[in-house]
Amino acid sequence: MLAHSNGIEDEPADESDGFAASGGILTVDLTALRANYARLRQEATGAEVAGVVKANAYGLGIEPVAKALWAEGCRTFFVAQLCEALELRPLLPDADIFVLNGLASGTEEAAARRNIRPVLNSLPQIRAWSALAAREGGRLPAAIQVDSGMSRLGLSGQEVEAVAADSALLAGIETRLVMSHLACADEPAHPANKAQLESFRRLAALLPKAPLSLANSAGVFLGPDFRFDLVRPGIALYGGRPLAGERANPMRPVVRLEARIVQLRHVPAGAGIGYGLSAVAEQAMRLATIGIGYADGWPRRLGNHIAAFAGARALPMVGRVSMDSIILDIGDAPLGDGDLVDLIGQNQDVDAVAGAADTISYEILTSLGRRFARRYIGESA
Ligand SMILES: *Cc1c(COP(=O)(O)O)cnc(C)c1O
Repeated sequence: MLAHSNGIEDEPADESDGFAASGGILTVDLTALRANYARLRQEATGAEVAGVVKANAYGLGIEPVAKALWAEGCRTFFVAQLCEALELRPLLPDADIFVLNGLASGTEEAAARRNIRPVLNSLPQIRAWSALAAREGGRLPAAIQVDSGMSRLGLSGQEVEAVAADSALLAGIETRLVMSHLACADEPAHPANKAQLESFRRLAALLPKAPLSLANSAGVFLGPDFRFDLVRPGIALYGGRPLAGERANPMRPVVRLEARIVQLRHVPAGAGIGYGLSAVAEQAMRLATIGIGYADGWPRRLGNHIAAFAGARALPMVGRVSMDSIILDIGDAPLGDGDLVDLIGQNQDVDAVAGAADTISYEILTSLGRRFARRYIGESA
């Protein structure tokens, strides 16, 4: 077994498992995922480290990811929507599961029945959860989110004051967490971080005493003031760079994306390449067409822009990205039909791909499509 320098082991795919039926293989290294969780726990020095597994664990697969995080000691999980929580509950019967977007009106009972906890973001959400608790004659656990300066989700300062002034509003609610979210955590020097920290402290002090949570992945690295009782990393678990800028990524890569060569050809000087003939061969070229495209989540704007890799050798993408294929300039690289080339791997991490596409690693990962064969390696439990 070869060890790649990015830590993702090169176990040959077992073609009998259907990998050859897909245009590409997405390999998720669960050992690296667990190592990233452990690394964040070390960094968080005493704060509980939850796992954010919304959007199918950032596209990597909620079941293997959530189970591996549980095996590493993670007990609290965040998803965005109730449907995601309903999928997660049978996988982790004993986990604390929070729904970041709160609950749509009418879905409270379905959530409560499965011990799923809403993040209550608004007064209507608080009233609905309280009303259900009253009907059931008890108290129901939830998180309360306050808006500390991002204007996205959570109670405004005024609403927090209204809640503080009317004890009946929270009477049915067992406040398990008071949380907020940072708008600029990936830019450590941004003045909004400190402003949000102060606003969060002030608002949380008006609410029932409960564990506090402010930090996402980047927030974990902003220093001890930002960590409170629980941190909520997502992207860093999956190997994404938590902080912007030049500093080395402290996380281990978790994802490797390979695509299969479906055809090789020689073209003469002057040949037009791909849709719109946006590239033209200046000299005779050797091309390889790989069987993935924008329908798999590879950004169309990366046509003529970035390379695939065979080992350390760059194979520039020429012409536009098609729905199901991309053309590579492979020169004299010793490649043949059916060979796999790396799109995300040791020579090009997910942040490099995102940078070239003028987006963020989150969007690249969550876009990676359903056609890839997904392969899980490493220690899951
Ligand atoms: C998505 C999300 C997170 C995780 O953010 P990362 O930047 O991926 O670590 C944490 N908290 C909230 C409220 C979120 O929406």
